[in-house]
Amino acid sequence: MFDLHKSSLVQTRALIDGKWCAADTQKTFAVKNPATGEVVAQVADLGVNETRRAITAAARSQATWAKKTAKERSQLLRGWFDLVIQHQEDLAQILTLEQGKPLAEARSEIAYGASYIEWFAEQAKRIYGDVIAPPSADQRILVIKQPVGVVAAITPWNFPCAMLARKIAPALAAGCTIVAKPASETPLSALAIAFLSMEAGIPAGVINIVTGTDSAAIGAELTGNPLVRKLSFTGSTVVGKQLIQQCAADVKRITLELGGNAPFIVFDDADLDAAVAGAMDSKFRNAGQTCVCANRFYIHRSVYAQFSEKLIVAMKALSVGNGADVSVNLGPLISAKAVDKVQTLVDEAISKGAHIGYQATLDTASVEQGYFYPPTLLLNVAPESELTCQEIFGPVAALIPFETDEEAIYLANNTEFGLASYCYTRDAKRINNLSDMLETGMLGINTGLISNEMAPFGGIKQSGWGREGSHYGIDDYVNIKYLCERF
Ligand code: NAP
Repeated sequence: MFDLHKSSLVQTRALIDGKWCAADTQKTFAVKNPATGEVVAQVADLGVNETRRAITAAARSQATWAKKTAKERSQLLRGWFDLVIQHQEDLAQILTLEQGKPLAEARSEIAYGASYIEWFAEQAKRIYGDVIAPPSADQRILVIKQPVGVVAAITPWNFPCAMLARKIAPALAAGCTIVAKPASETPLSALAIAFLSMEAGIPAGVINIVTGTDSAAIGAELTGNPLVRKLSFTGSTVVGKQLIQQCAADVKRITLELGGNAPFIVFDDADLDAAVAGAMDSKFRNAGQTCVCANRFYIHRSVYAQFSEKLIVAMKALSVGNGADVSVNLGPLISAKAVDKVQTLVDEAISKGAHIGYQATLDTASVEQGYFYPPTLLLNVAPESELTCQEIFGPVAALIPFETDEEAIYLANNTEFGLASYCYTRDAKRINNLSDMLETGMLGINTGLISNEMAPFGGIKQSGWGREGSHYGIDDYVNIKYLCERF
């Protein structure tokens, strides 16, 4: 099933204190290929006891790791980055097999994840303190930054490599150690990059990976154990809220990258071809399963027909199937449940007056066993339809006409989420207004692709707390200590 240059990248046991560990119970769980339903691996199904051991190992390694110089930590991270890039093709294959995304997208995700390791290898050397003017002449005020300590990370299945890399890399750069729990649908990518971290010489106990299906129990240990000083979670808002409550008991620091509901607004002066290209990037990447996916298309009434016609032409070029096939550019959804959810949302929108402007016909022979949903365009969607309120997480574009800028801004902000937004217009004054008025952590202006390691990724409102990537990304992993010196 795996045809890799380096077969040892497929690890099916958890990583604790530098050792590959089976579950105490010897239990395993099946990882399935969502394109075929086939089991690709049986992975160790850990519980609370093993999680506790992983936390203890991370705590034991903490002081030694933090004592390394910034340059030493930087060099180890850089070595890890080099190995991830060297094994990009193998890692992409593993990713496609467990997650389903087309190989080209899997390669991009590995490069994207690696870019955070490279970036934080560089940033490790740039965690600066401060000297502040004191109120009296015999004082000196110094500020130093120290690692927060042991970090717990919980990550989702939609970007199994990148979401983890973007937590481990800043944590290690700052001098923290980490215990990470990847989603149970996609543990293999996490184990593969952890394997490379060991090859790069990152010491035992600094990165620990706990695999398991009892996420509530593992999460309770990660949030309840006092040795853990910080939680970084990427996932749904529902689970995020629960974890906030769990972390309240001992006031753990938290970073949350939660759900989105991105508006994609096309104004009457937009370059429509560019808007369609941006819509394709934003909506159909990873079969619509990204937190920054365009979820609601608001199109100015005067260009609504033209935009939808052009979008249909572009959608007809999507080739749906098994991501391992290089001709495919739209893979399956993660599970049968995900397919059912998308269908329910589409049915509800239709019951409220929407109609299907285009729906691809799937080649039943090639998609029979997998969890596929056809690319679909819904026209004249009622603004109050359920699919405008929650993440669709599927390849469905919902188009809603608007008439004024005020209406577009009102509709865009009419959600509890605030992760990404997109707008297409050539009017500088309008761009300024949208930049001020849209309630969002990130705004794509005439682009549908906004994520990179140099920019601060994150949301406002119920989309989360904190930022990942950029020079801000280290802030969540350090404590500020102020030294008041009198002489
Ligand atoms: P999810 O159900 O919240 O799961 C995310 C992670 O949390 C998985 O590892 C899961 O483990 C674990 N988990 C589930 N219940 C838990 C609990 N009670 N305690 C501790 N951990 C628990 O989300 P998902 O469906 O996998 O991912 C999709 C969501 O992630 C979407 O809402 C998407 O927008 C969001 N997301 C946000 C960003 C961002 O940067 N803002 C990026 C990517 C994705 P198991 O899989 O083992 O249950």
